Amino acid sequence: MQTHLADFIRDTPAGREADAILRKCVHCGFCTATCPTYQLLGDELDGPRGRIYLIKELLEGAAVTEKTRLHLDRCLTCRSCETTCPSGVQYSRLVDIGREVIDKRLARGGLEQMKRAALKTLLSTNWIFSPAYRLGQWLRPLLPTRLAAMVLPYRASGVRPGSRHARRMIALAGCVQPAMAPNINAAAARVLDALGVSLIESPQAGCCGALPLHLDDIEAAKAAARRNIDAWCPLLEAGAEAIVVTASGCGTQVRDYAHLLADDADYAAKAARVALLSFDISEVILAERDKLLALLAKKGVEKLAFHSPCSLQHGLKVRGSVETLLEAAGFLLTPVADSHLCCGSAGSYSVLQPGIAKKLRDNKLSALLAGGPAAIATANIGCLAHLQAGSDVAVRHWIEILDERL
Ligand code: SF4
Ligand code: SF4
Repeated sequence: MQTHLADFIRDTPAGREADAILRKCVHCGFCTATCPTYQLLGDELDGPRGRIYLIKELLEGAAVTEKTRLHLDRCLTCRSCETTCPSGVQYSRLVDIGREVIDKRLARGGLEQMKRAALKTLLSTNWIFSPAYRLGQWLRPLLPTRLAAMVLPYRASGVRPGSRHARRMIALAGCVQPAMAPNINAAAARVLDALGVSLIESPQAGCCGALPLHLDDIEAAKAAARRNIDAWCPLLEAGAEAIVVTASGCGTQVRDYAHLLADDADYAAKAARVALLSFDISEVILAERDKLLALLAKKGVEKLAFHSPCSLQHGLKVRGSVETLLEAAGFLLTPVADSHLCCGSAGSYSVLQPGIAKKLRDNKLSALLAGGPAAIATANIGCLAHLQAGSDVAVRHWIEILDERL
């Protein structure tokens, strides 16, 4: 694709990056076929190729309009298009640049700004979110069905093993997951403990920064990355092997720290190290597969449907690891049609674009439940809560299921 970027961006780092990405696109449209919003809305501008044209026009100096913003806001940033693209177009980087340009040049309406600010504060401030969510869990039996569905039932986290092994890894606690599903990291700690690895957490670490980034606050995302790097580097220096992430959405964000802080002279090298040493929990456990197999008790076959989050399969490009582990543990995985498509959760998307998110969830649940599974397993807290809100069949993190089998 030929480009003639406008003066305001041409010689900036973002402009050079966008230019290189745009020039890779050959307009073939293969990506359109695997885009969930194009499939749902049938409008070229709600597919990756159309959005790439809109961003190109924007960067070449076209007027910034609400229409452009609407089509970019409707994008889930699921990155399915990146997996499909034969030319290696890094669409997610391009759409981030496009969104930043729009936000600088066209302010959102007051109500929308308030909604986004409230969401960002609520979700990324643990001392506000945790008690509010716990209160919601207590009141759940009294809430109207629609509201109750938005709160996961309380599940105690069980015993968390102490740090007793020479091998240690660092867990990202995150912002919303400890309140919504504290058992996920506790289950990861138990499984790793059985495999001879202690999982430790740094109290100084917190939100990975994905939420503020989704809500257009790149500076807050960078601040979160710097705080986590400061918390983790001393532990890495002291011998911790890796940073383990149990929410694939957060895992994608941590893996992106190298890019996020590439222009920060004080943090670029540390960010690159942290990104390199960060792993999804499935990657870590797969590496210990032989030890795991020796520990697994044989039990009756249970049917599970696995929903691979976009952040796992398209963001981290981890495909097949969880499925391999669950099958090794004796579960029968039911076939899931269109497993590459997003469930509609996508960070804060389900709150900001509820209509599209609900349709995507309905489609995803039909595909997941078609094989009659006893439960749905997934790998990201956002997908878990979003799917559970629309299903009577239990939705669990796969590490909790594996922990119970051990
Ligand atoms: S990121 Fe997802 S929703 Fe956005 S254009 Fe790509 S495939 Fe479509
Ligand atoms: S598949 Fe890749 S090269 Fe083809 S239109 Fe989509 S982004 Fe461009």
